[in-house]
Amino acid sequence: MIYVVGSSNTDMVVKSDKLPAKGETVIGGEFLMNAGGKGANQAVSSARLGGKVCLICKIGNDLFGKQALEQFRHENILTKYIATDRTLPSGIALINVDTEGQNCITVAPGANAALKPEEVSLGMEETGSDDILLVQLEIPLETVRFAINAAHQKRTRVILNPAPAQILPQEIYPYLFAITPNETEAELLTGIRVTSDPTVEQAARILIDKGCKNVIITLGSRGAYLRTSQGGTFITSPSVKATDTTAAGDCFNGALAVTVSEGKPLEQAVAFACGAAAISVTRMGAQSSMPTRREVDQLLF
Ligand code: ADP
Repeated sequence: MIYVVGSSNTDMVVKSDKLPAKGETVIGGEFLMNAGGKGANQAVSSARLGGKVCLICKIGNDLFGKQALEQFRHENILTKYIATDRTLPSGIALINVDTEGQNCITVAPGANAALKPEEVSLGMEETGSDDILLVQLEIPLETVRFAINAAHQKRTRVILNPAPAQILPQEIYPYLFAITPNETEAELLTGIRVTSDPTVEQAARILIDKGCKNVIITLGSRGAYLRTSQGGTFITSPSVKATDTTAAGDCFNGALAVTVSEGKPLEQAVAFACGAAAISVTRMGAQSSMPTRREVDQLLF
């Protein structure tokens, strides 16, 4: 089972020719309202790719929360540990996307910010050495730490997607089976400006030195860099025409968790994740852009 501990948001997406600058109003085109949030996105990514997924998150007692719950059930995601906050609204995200697929996002966390360790603990008690914990940083750091510690005690492999970027306590690193920053997040965590192959390698080495077992730095259209105890390697992403890169990293992480839980070697798992994420950037939206297993297999094999 893949336990995803994280956020759930409703994304409100507007597509426009250019992103608005400070103080500017831009007349946009298409408007889409989709279920999003890094936790929920990664859960849907894993579930569509054939993973057994249990999502642990917190929603508000409102229409957005109810819709999200329905969507998770529709995706065959276990929802028994999803908590509902009585006072706070469900999380929302305002997303602008331009014609090149670049985006600009504001999140109002709502109930996500109130997901407490005790609301995660029941789910964590169920985990074992065959399971994966997939976690990101859109919920309180205290809860992230609790989940990682609990999983570690159960010998559950932990994949941490350190997004949105924030400094992490040193004691977390040795508990991580894998950490999966993008270039910006890698820079914040290591102090290395990730702009070239040597700097990617340098940042990854620093994260290994901090105690992570494996490091995967995602590199946008280039693919990803994998560093294990055996050394490092660049893995390319299939070349596609990007229309919306929202949730590319989420798709990548969900796909990675599935293939790791299936016992695939990490190099294969990263190549699979690159294939899945490449498909996701060709489509609008977050959860709506996640591919099925068959689509990824058709692209890669
Ligand atoms: P994030 O979305 O977290 O910023 P990245 O931009 O690094 O992360 O993208 C995550 C993954 O998505 C990449 O490792 C790559 O596999 C895939 N990806 C992103 N952009 C493209 C693109 N333009 N073409 C092909 N694959 C892409």
